[in-house]
Amino acid sequence: MTETIADIIRSMDMEPADFSQGNMDVFSPIDGKKMGSVREDTVPDLKAKIGASVEAFKRWRMIPAPRRGELIRLLGEELRKNKDALSALVTAECGKILEEGKGEVQEMIDICDYAVGVSRQLYGLTIASERPGHHMREYYQPLGPIGVISAFNFPVAVWSWNTALAVVCGDPVIWKPSEKTPMTAIACQKIFDRAVENFGDDAPANLSQILIGGRDVGEAMVDDSRMALISATGSTRMGRQVAPRVAERFGRCLLELGGNNAIIVTDSADIEMAIPGIVFGSVGTAGQRCTSTRRLIVHESVYDALVPRLKKAYEGLNIGNPLIDGTLVGPLIDEASFTAMEKALDAARAEGGLVTGGGRADGVEGGYYAKPAIAEMPSQTPSMCEETFAPILYIVKYSNWQDALDIHNAVPQGLSSAVITTDVREAEHFISPEGSDCGIANVNIGTSGAEIGGAFGGEKETGGGRESGSDAWKVYMRRQTSTVNYSRELPLAQGIKFDL
Ligand code: NAD
Repeated sequence: MTETIADIIRSMDMEPADFSQGNMDVFSPIDGKKMGSVREDTVPDLKAKIGASVEAFKRWRMIPAPRRGELIRLLGEELRKNKDALSALVTAECGKILEEGKGEVQEMIDICDYAVGVSRQLYGLTIASERPGHHMREYYQPLGPIGVISAFNFPVAVWSWNTALAVVCGDPVIWKPSEKTPMTAIACQKIFDRAVENFGDDAPANLSQILIGGRDVGEAMVDDSRMALISATGSTRMGRQVAPRVAERFGRCLLELGGNNAIIVTDSADIEMAIPGIVFGSVGTAGQRCTSTRRLIVHESVYDALVPRLKKAYEGLNIGNPLIDGTLVGPLIDEASFTAMEKALDAARAEGGLVTGGGRADGVEGGYYAKPAIAEMPSQTPSMCEETFAPILYIVKYSNWQDALDIHNAVPQGLSSAVITTDVREAEHFISPEGSDCGIANVNIGTSGAEIGGAFGGEKETGGGRESGSDAWKVYMRRQTSTVNYSRELPLAQGIKFDL
């Protein structure tokens, strides 16, 4: 493993010292061994970085947006050049299989392409004025320094979703990655710096900076009123701490928190198509995606056709080193995750569930490799309403469509959802106002994974934020309404007379 990390860093033409001479050790979930050590930032470091970000903002906001887009185009180019190496580093640091590591870096490239287009489309409105000789317009102006807090499971994509858009919107970024994945963040910073070098002098120094550390530096960033937006991705527990602190200073928050995603499999479902979607959704990234499928709500008439097939597919899963071709399930991030999974399975059993799988996978040493589990439940029990960040798929039966929808929506989270059906009424009802209450509602695909073009995020305890495509760019800008009088009179709105 040490050899691999050194190779990766060498292939990216980066300084090995940045990854080996710090006070914070980084361990790989693949074998539990030390990958390197990085320098941890302190609160005074953070304050200096925020000061530098404020200065960068003053210059960057005045650069025309399409020119700002050119920097993101160059970032996309650098990411293309480094795709294989960065994917391998993602895999080494967070444990997702290499194929998914590559998918994550591809998402970074996709958001860059998307943001380049957006840089020529930061449009406002013109609005009819009630006053003669007046124009009314709405502008979107750059917002200010953006603080990005990210989770371990998407160690690089979340930064790029935020940064590509923030930068074209005229904002600098300070990124606090997960303390579990700082090396990929350092690599991204170097890649960004190269794009800046190729871009030339229009880019101020410190347009994108990283803040290495844990909760304490994160909190200090959250509390600083110079940070115009805090975009925080992670657990609902973290969001509960961050949101009130930002609200206290009237800052802006974009929250991307935990999910508890379900698929409803109806009596008319195409079972052949359902199986790969369910299995990828529930065991992909070892169940450590915010969009992982955690609950399956199955019509009683197809239960016996579906569930034994799922169990069989689970038995055949190749669990092991995620750097090796053909592996489908890598390790959990750490021991605490494995313990949480075991505890959740005990709770499921205590609630009357029948559990298949769980425990440590055979024949893989080093990291915490868990056997993905299926828990057949008598009803939707309390433990099913929590997000356990591990590969547990809870299954419940239903007999009536409305019951399925009620079960689906009766959890506190609201990120991703899906229905597998060939009945157009059920499909359309699922995406109607009385259907799924989630930010993402799919038909005949799973819950996991999303395309860059759509807005990404969820409702309820998932936090309500939207990032990536559609009009998500607007959160990185401030809206300004402007009325211009081009007449020689001064009429007041609402016909008010004010004769002096
Ligand atoms: P986590 O909440 O433990 O940590 C996330 C980040 O928040 C880390 O960088 C951490 O240092 C920071 N943090 C924690 N407490 C903080 C505080 N009080 N102030 C400031 N920063 C703080 O999450 P994790 O274990 O890294 O990731 C898993 C969780 O993230 C899951 O719940 C998953 O669903 C969620 N997630 C959500 C999305 C989404 O888009 N909705 C995407 C990825 C992950």
